[in-house]
Amino acid sequence: MAGPGRWHEWETTPSEDTRGEAATGKAKQGTRSGGRGKRAGAPAPRVRATRPIPRHCVLCGTALRAIREHGVARRACPRCGFIAYRNPVPACGVIVTRRGEVLLARRAHEPKLGAWGIPAGFMEYGEHPETTAVREAREETGLRVRLQGLFGVYAGRDDPRTRAVLILYHARVTGGRLEAGDDASEVDFFPLDRLPRPIAFRSHREALRDLNRFEKERR
Ligand SMILES: [Zn+2]
Repeated sequence: MAGPGRWHEWETTPSEDTRGEAATGKAKQGTRSGGRGKRAGAPAPRVRATRPIPRHCVLCGTALRAIREHGVARRACPRCGFIAYRNPVPACGVIVTRRGEVLLARRAHEPKLGAWGIPAGFMEYGEHPETTAVREAREETGLRVRLQGLFGVYAGRDDPRTRAVLILYHARVTGGRLEAGDDASEVDFFPLDRLPRPIAFRSHREALRDLNRFEKERR
């Protein structure tokens, strides 16, 4: 599980944040809504680097002004007081294992199209994290799962769309049929010492490394 050391390792101020990751939104070849692993060769729309700060108030349209709040640079609306906070977005997913193998899904969309990841997705507003995890498992892999407890929480800092917080649960399959859906082009179980490459995000790689270690300790 991610210890305190890891969190401090990548802690940045908001200004470093905007500067440092501008180059990560690399455009890749592939279909955006393409079906089941087929690649049409049309260039995918360029993914913007880490969530930009709005220039205008999302409530009243007034140009935002730079402010400092508790030592953090932000933008605020001089007319209505709206502050453009830039928080990480929570994402939730499931660690499903079967005879020492882990369930992974291959990404059908940018970013990281074609890379593999733990079935997971962003929380909808008003959703409980557990609901998100179960929903994402169903949507991406076709499997119905029951959560069995928290696996771990990871910091997502290499998704070009936004900073994220990845919440992963242990889960057990209760039904459904293994079939790539929605955001996945392929789904399968893989032995922990022979994972497919590449694994999409650093947080997923960290979680899989932890899982591998836990499984070895269990034996
Ligand atoms: Zn405003």
